Amino acid sequence: MLVAVPAAAASMDAFRERAVTNPHSLIASVRQQLDRAGTALPPARERELLWGMGTAAINSNDDAALAEATLRLDSLAAVAHDPVAAAAAGFLQARHDIANGISAGLGEALQAANKVLGQTDPRIMAWARYQLCDAYTLDDKPDKALPVCQQALAGYRALNDEFGMGDVENDTGIALASQDKVDDAAAAYVRSREHYAKAKAGQLVVLVGDNLAKMYLKQGRAREAMALSQASLKQELGAGRISDSLDSTTDIALAEAALGQHRQAYARMREAVVRARQAGINGQLIGMLQVESRMAEQVGDLRQALDDEREASRLNDTADTPAQRLVETELEQRYATREKELRISELEHANELKDLQLRAVKAEAERRREQQQRQRLANAMIAILAGALSLIVGLLVLLLRAQRRHAAELRAQALRDPLTGIANRRAFQQRASELLDGPHEAGIAAHVLLLIDIDHFKSINDSIGHPQGDRVLRILTDYLGGAVGAPCFVARIGGEEFAVLCPRTGLAAGMRLAERLRAGTAELTMPDDLPLERLTISIGVAPFDGVRCRDLSSWMRAADLALYAAKSGGRDRVMESRLLD
Ligand code: GH3
Ligand code: MG
Ligand code: MG
Repeated sequence: MLVAVPAAAASMDAFRERAVTNPHSLIASVRQQLDRAGTALPPARERELLWGMGTAAINSNDDAALAEATLRLDSLAAVAHDPVAAAAAGFLQARHDIANGISAGLGEALQAANKVLGQTDPRIMAWARYQLCDAYTLDDKPDKALPVCQQALAGYRALNDEFGMGDVENDTGIALASQDKVDDAAAAYVRSREHYAKAKAGQLVVLVGDNLAKMYLKQGRAREAMALSQASLKQELGAGRISDSLDSTTDIALAEAALGQHRQAYARMREAVVRARQAGINGQLIGMLQVESRMAEQVGDLRQALDDEREASRLNDTADTPAQRLVETELEQRYATREKELRISELEHANELKDLQLRAVKAEAERRREQQQRQRLANAMIAILAGALSLIVGLLVLLLRAQRRHAAELRAQALRDPLTGIANRRAFQQRASELLDGPHEAGIAAHVLLLIDIDHFKSINDSIGHPQGDRVLRILTDYLGGAVGAPCFVARIGGEEFAVLCPRTGLAAGMRLAERLRAGTAELTMPDDLPLERLTISIGVAPFDGVRCRDLSSWMRAADLALYAAKSGGRDRVMESRLLD
């Protein structure tokens, strides 16, 4: 307000600015002035000082100073019958209550405004309207705030009060911003800064710059926002206004993020959050944690994002309103899901590794299995081959044996006479040759050869038939075989001719044997069914003397000649070869 004192407007504006930018010193200074002046102070001046002290008390959360200012204003109102002082006390209480979320606050502001309804001073009217504009704005009722703010603005404009216009335009910006009218709000803040600049309230220019920076961020004017926030930060750090400096730092980080400098923004925000935590500014910390969480998420640090949201949620818990709990629950669910996703992706990664390992192990097992299979197959093949080989060898052995047997049989057959079963001509020749090839020992009895021929066999055949003739041949063979003992050897050497070879027998014994055979044959009794009365044979006997008989052919010839002679001599007789010489 700072009304009705026509002293230097500049010093009044400085006083108003101090209530915002340096409230503690203002409170101290007011107390000092009041103490010094005692009761000598004019009521309007006292009201101004108390109002300044009260607003400074609100700005610095100095409840004692606020109580002192309101009490003094109330007593001033009573003593001096000053409704403006009463209104000032009411507006102070209202602003305190609204700022502290006490619902009665707005009602108190309206009551306070009522108290100055009858006033005509345009300064008082503008001031009261601005207080209402501020109360509605503070209470987040932009629809109600904006018309009243316009009236207050008109009032201040008429008074050419740049500082007042700066105040109103700032509230107008706040109200428009809460209606999401970003461009209009930005324009209001720009005007506010211009008014404050004209009032030489440089610190307030910077302060409103904070509000404007937030609009610029929303408008995508990140560089302009950053410049404003950096200017603010500088001032705030200089004045030691930690809370405001953290707010500006947050805005700078947001501007950086908007400019794509995500890591830088995140780092700045982390640092700011640490400072806020150290300062114990929990109300502000919640918002900062939420900003940090989004930035952490942006750079992929989901754990930090989750932790920040949790911390913010935990801090919110102190408010413990149903709305807060709802937000918290929603956050919990959102981040539980996100944490789950994180866990899942970790697990998936682990699973992928395990899967790879498993696949490697499986591949190795498969490779070994195949190797073993190949080995088994190879072994089986070897076994089969070995089996096949031994089978083939066995078969070959059997075949060879069969062939040998067959060959032996063939050889035996070649030496046997098929009709009678005794040795044939070839066997006889073999045996005779062997005998003649053997050693000749002087004084040992000579080998003797008997050639036997059946008499008139042709007519036997003719009379009894050829098959019966064969039968006769077998009967004679049986007889000869039985009658000729070892060492003599019987063979059938032609149709009805036989040879008996007697090694080292001597001629006399040979002759005796021949005679025995001739006589025995002549006495053979034929079977009843064989119509043959008598069978006779003629025999030529030749000893191997090594002179006339030198070899087998000459020996045979000699025996044959003797046989011929026996035939010529009338048959059924024995002839000795030497008798023919
Ligand atoms: P000889 O007293 O002069 O010896 O009179 P032979 O009739 O025996 O005369 P020869 O020796 O000329 O005749 C032999 C006969 O023997 C002729 C032939 O038919 C008969 N013969 C030869 N081989 C066989 C045979 O295997 N079986 C039969 N049944 N007869 C045979
Ligand atoms: Mg004959
Ligand atoms: Mg004959």
